[in-house]
Amino acid sequence: MSAAGQTTVPFTVPSFAGEVSDAVVKVLDSGWVTTGPQTAAFEQDFADFLGAAHVVAVASCTTALELCLRAMDLPPGSAVLTPSLTFCGAINAILHAGHRPVLVDIDEDTLVPSPETVAAAAARTRPAAMVVQNQGGYPVDVAALTEAAGLDRTRVVEDAAHGPGAARDGAPVGSSSYAACFSFYATKNMPIGEGGAVATSDPDFADRVRAMRLHGMSKDSWKRYLPGGSWRYDVKSIGLKANMTDIQASIGRAQLAALPGWQRTRGELVARYDAALADLPGLVLPQRDLAGVQHAWHLYQVRVPDRDALIAELEAAGVATSVHFIPASHMTSYRAVLGEEECGRVPVTDRVAEELLSLPLYPGLSPDGQDRVVTALTGALRARS
Ligand SMILES: *Cc1c(COP(=O)(O)O)cnc(C)c1O
Repeated sequence: MSAAGQTTVPFTVPSFAGEVSDAVVKVLDSGWVTTGPQTAAFEQDFADFLGAAHVVAVASCTTALELCLRAMDLPPGSAVLTPSLTFCGAINAILHAGHRPVLVDIDEDTLVPSPETVAAAAARTRPAAMVVQNQGGYPVDVAALTEAAGLDRTRVVEDAAHGPGAARDGAPVGSSSYAACFSFYATKNMPIGEGGAVATSDPDFADRVRAMRLHGMSKDSWKRYLPGGSWRYDVKSIGLKANMTDIQASIGRAQLAALPGWQRTRGELVARYDAALADLPGLVLPQRDLAGVQHAWHLYQVRVPDRDALIAELEAAGVATSVHFIPASHMTSYRAVLGEEECGRVPVTDRVAEELLSLPLYPGLSPDGQDRVVTALTGALRARS
């Protein structure tokens, strides 16, 4: 409850399709609940949705990122380019894979690295790989960034946690990537609760990731407890325990059918925000240069003055917000691992990150709830001008 006595507008609420409960019950009744036929069917459905050649379903986007980096077989301790403005899980994935994150600054209009900032980071190190990220649902130009880094496309991992529904020049995010990683975490555009996926154009890479998601056990060893399954298996690579369960996959299949409708609702909410917030003093709206770009609108990220105080005022007015992200270079453990000098190399990120504010944006946000967000933000900003 806010001071005004109204319930708070939540920052995010996951949507679940009506078909989800039946789908889950069917899996429970089937006698097979972990990785199996539903997982395979979800992989095919998601590949069809993206227009991707191969999809491997995994436990989370974080493990997807780590699996991709491991499957690239880079020399231990390799330099891996990453935006500092990203989620901590994406940095942990690089470190857990045994490599060294190299921080890349952002362009302040798009909130993602530009060819210039990537080239600058590549010039001071010799990157073996790069992770790029579709901040807020804005699809990065992977080819341009790959060229700027001087890397082969087989050394670029796309963190597409915010990406489903986004496209660039008509190509959906993940449709042509060497390694795109998706998240089905509760807050994401297609929530399962937990879950992730790797989309890839390379069948051998898909096979490596598929083996490594389940300990590195040989093909189809998940079937060893099924009638006709074989007890014999080999471990050819040292993998992770990062498989998706059939319970998750069955939820994912039902959710995927509902995703296009949710994406349309997100687009409508964004148009309402854009119109209502167009002329507010001190407010910078999200990415504006959308030529050739289909934004996934995972987040509606604005930039505001006096951000921290504003968050408290919005909270008091019954509006929950969030921040994406606190840069990696501001976190205690990464500062210790990367060093102060490396963490000082992202000045635009440092400045812009203090102004970032994510407003509520989800299919279940009512017009009334959205109006309350607009009214609270407008009042708080006008009081400052
Ligand atoms: C949520 C998120 C992740 C991690 O996703 P999980 O599925 O929770 O592991 C990685 N990168 C970004 C940018 C994210 O927002």
